[in-house]
Amino acid sequence: MNANWNFDNSYARLPERFFTKIRPTPVSDPKLVVLNRSLADELGLCAEALAGEEGVAVFAGNRIPEGAEPLAQAYAGHQFGHFNMLGDGRAILLGEHVTPNGERVDIQLKGSGRTPYSRGGDGRAALGPMLREYIISEAMHALRIPTTRSLAVVTTGEVVIRDKELPGAILTRVAASHLRVGTFQYAARFLSKEELQALADYAIKRHYPNGEHAPNRYLFFLEEVMKKQAELVAKWQLVGFVHGVMNTDNMTISGETIDYGPCAFMDVYDPTTVFSSIDTQGRYAYGNQPYIAGWNIARFAESLLPLLHEKEEKAIELAQEAIAQFPTLYETYWLQGMRAKLGLCTEEAEDKKLIGELLHLMYTYRADYTNTFRALTLDEWHFCEKELCDWYTRWQKRIARQDMTKEEVYERMRQNNPAIIPRNYRVEEALAAAVERGDNTVMERLLYVLKRPYAYTKEQEEYAKPPEPSDRPYRTFCGT
Ligand code: AMP
Ligand code: MG
Repeated sequence: MNANWNFDNSYARLPERFFTKIRPTPVSDPKLVVLNRSLADELGLCAEALAGEEGVAVFAGNRIPEGAEPLAQAYAGHQFGHFNMLGDGRAILLGEHVTPNGERVDIQLKGSGRTPYSRGGDGRAALGPMLREYIISEAMHALRIPTTRSLAVVTTGEVVIRDKELPGAILTRVAASHLRVGTFQYAARFLSKEELQALADYAIKRHYPNGEHAPNRYLFFLEEVMKKQAELVAKWQLVGFVHGVMNTDNMTISGETIDYGPCAFMDVYDPTTVFSSIDTQGRYAYGNQPYIAGWNIARFAESLLPLLHEKEEKAIELAQEAIAQFPTLYETYWLQGMRAKLGLCTEEAEDKKLIGELLHLMYTYRADYTNTFRALTLDEWHFCEKELCDWYTRWQKRIARQDMTKEEVYERMRQNNPAIIPRNYRVEEALAAAVERGDNTVMERLLYVLKRPYAYTKEQEEYAKPPEPSDRPYRTFCGT
């Protein structure tokens, strides 16, 4: 049976310092844990073949499919504000698969062994974090948020040593590309201007082909990446997603969410929410994400300076003018999304205030973020506090001032407020069953209900419940 892989590897044609050709390190006893059949279909791949022995051998890195040219990508990045040389230390790009529709996607194995960029690491990944990435990235996709996808997770039959021995696993990740802000920082810092330009031309051709004929294609490129990132982070904010490690190497040029390490969804609305155990200063707290995206964009703009204009002063001026737009861009996307969440289809000057008041009340009363919007959407707003009732009355008056029936308003809200998100306790419960007991049914059920977050089905109700109150905050760990 043929899996229908159709590789055409454009990244491998870039100047050679952008990568190291290297094969994954074979593993002893690969077993399929989960396969994303609907994604396989979308990509024109044959799920039956992927689930078979040869297909699993590919996911494990034991077999290189025809046409693949495995390599590890070089990149750098600011990690918690500090610049480092990085690169794929535990991932290998098999190549680019071109779908029957002509769409080009990276096929990457994560956890596939050491590379020249591994530094002290073992190049491996544990089952729990790989399944976590699978669950959350697929949930994000279903929430209509641009993201890398997860095609499969296999166990390796080997253990990885973290604070204890854990089952080793490999995730097959599918992405529009793995070009990162950090790829540009790497080129700007360590390579020649010609190599930087080759990378920029490549990225424009792959992701922003309209820019090929723009008067200043690199400025156009910067502005387009800014828009994509502003839109992406606005979508994160709107669903309460905390990425957790917004280092510049974890920010894509395509505008997809990438690297689901310590990410998690916020329950109670609180802008200071941090889940990552290593983010002790709260640099990547929920409320900081838009500012950090702007900071990262500024690093991106810096790396493009040599291309923006031949005179450095003029290049800086162009970059500054462009990045000064980021906060406004972000706010425009966010406000548009918030209006949709509240069923508003017209724009009034006071809308921002009305939204701000709701968020403030949610913060004051420690309300669950997702379920507050869920309650509004289902017309189940049962608060008795006066301030909340007053807000509700103002909102009702506001929606009455637009030419829309109540049904239309509520329909708009259902389209824009998820009935469920991957609640942390639900994700943990699924991972515990899979990792500790080899029982995947809890995860499969969770994946199933997360597939249609805007459907408001009966079976989702159980999954919409917030966690039991706890005196210990939820903590996540980088998947290393
Ligand atoms: P991440 O936190 O996944 O964004 O990874 C940051 C950097 O550390 C990247 O260069 C990774 O490739 C590298 N890295 C993470 N975990 C490992 C590991 N177990 N072995 C080698 N390199 C790793
Ligand atoms: Mg990363």
